[in-house]
Amino acid sequence: MRYLSTRGHADRKRFCEILLEGLAPDGGLYLPEHYPQVDAHMLADWRGIWAQQGYAGLAFAVLSLYIDDIPAADLKALCDTTYTEAVFGTPQIVPLKPLQAPGAAAPELLLEALSNGPTLAFKDMAMQLLGNLFEYELARRGEELNILGATSGDTGSAAEYAMRGKKGVRVFMTSPNGRMSPFQQAQMFSLLDDNIHNIAIDGVFDDCQDIVKAVSNDLDFKRKYKIGTVNSINWARLLAQVVYYFAGYFQATQTNAEKVSFSVPSGNFGNVCAGHVARMMGLPIAQLVVATNENDVLDEFFRTGVYRVRGTADTHETSSPSMDISKASNFERFVFDLLGRDGARVAQLFGPAISQQGRFDLSADPLFVQAATRYGFVSGKSTHADRLATIRDVFARYGVMIDTHTADGVKVAREHLVPGQAMLVLETALPIKFAATLVEALGREPERPPQFNGIEALPKRVTVMPADTALVQRYIVEHCH
Ligand SMILES: *Cc1c(COP(=O)(O)O)cnc(C)c1O
Repeated sequence: MRYLSTRGHADRKRFCEILLEGLAPDGGLYLPEHYPQVDAHMLADWRGIWAQQGYAGLAFAVLSLYIDDIPAADLKALCDTTYTEAVFGTPQIVPLKPLQAPGAAAPELLLEALSNGPTLAFKDMAMQLLGNLFEYELARRGEELNILGATSGDTGSAAEYAMRGKKGVRVFMTSPNGRMSPFQQAQMFSLLDDNIHNIAIDGVFDDCQDIVKAVSNDLDFKRKYKIGTVNSINWARLLAQVVYYFAGYFQATQTNAEKVSFSVPSGNFGNVCAGHVARMMGLPIAQLVVATNENDVLDEFFRTGVYRVRGTADTHETSSPSMDISKASNFERFVFDLLGRDGARVAQLFGPAISQQGRFDLSADPLFVQAATRYGFVSGKSTHADRLATIRDVFARYGVMIDTHTADGVKVAREHLVPGQAMLVLETALPIKFAATLVEALGREPERPPQFNGIEALPKRVTVMPADTALVQRYIVEHCH
């Protein structure tokens, strides 16, 4: 399998070449040259693999179609070490939780639990694999990597828990000082591993992102200090996420003749883009429901054909903060497919059109209707009031507590139900991560998994710094040996 850029660059690369890279040289995102097709025979085989070998076996089956530059036995071992009950808390890794009223014939919705990993958010699903892949590939090359990142919460902790103790990798994670939830701060800052560095920046998330960008644009520094990233545009992360669409499907259905829909709480379009890839491979998905919060860049596009990035001033700080985006960094991948893989056109839209007008408009393009008709996308948005109401309603009806992001997914899923067809809502975090809003909705603290008891009282390791790129660079220089 070779990978190409969404902006038409002539290079074709293999998996391990793009594993440690960010953007393609022309600023595009990497995608496989084609989507391997899972025909009826293979889907039947995979149902058997799921039943007999579980999540790790299924992950190996999916990944093998896209990765041909890691020997099969090694790839199998990487999947087996990553997806274990010890790491993800359950033997099924991604169990389904039916939302079903007592006496009802069928569940209203099925929650697919993606957040039982070490940091209690779905980002562990991909990041844990990435940690093992990075360690493997760096050892093979005899290289080191210093991961520099910016986080408002979930990404940073998932990256740190995936990379802690890994050979050849260091993590330098910036976060806005004092702005993450107390639980998130405790999760990150209580890590005492030598290769994990928390840098709290006096500023907001955008200041952290600007610093990461500035350091990455300093090409000499980047090369000399082997700076890399693990952000959501990384193809390996997306690929790892494809697996749980198959695992959800096999759990929700009896036969491969059935179709299901997925509702996906969305910010940067990484999670739901993996659903798109699964659907392109032939997984029988009816609808892919894109659920946004008040930052409704994606809902606006799927409703109107206009993609309009937001400025800092009209990016809302919400109670589903991991979806607070001003643009959706993986969206370019879907647009590339929608426009018949026309790299030149994608380059124009995401280059000059966005940088000069901050928007592009596909409403008049005959291909736009295919977003719904051919690719199955529908969308909706949810507000703070909707989240509170949904959290209360799901708790009252089913006795199940859901987090704020999952609540956005449930709210929008309900607008797209089709009788007789299962709807899976991806549960992207556990409620304890966003306890304040749960208390606001239900008047009580969410349940805390026992391994997190007392986490806020653990010793913390974090360096506080002003929002100054040079200081962050100096910190890296002093700590990368
Ligand atoms: C990151 C995140 C999302 C958004 O996922 P995208 O891949 O950016 O669309 C949703 N919910 C939670 C809890 C997250 O951490």
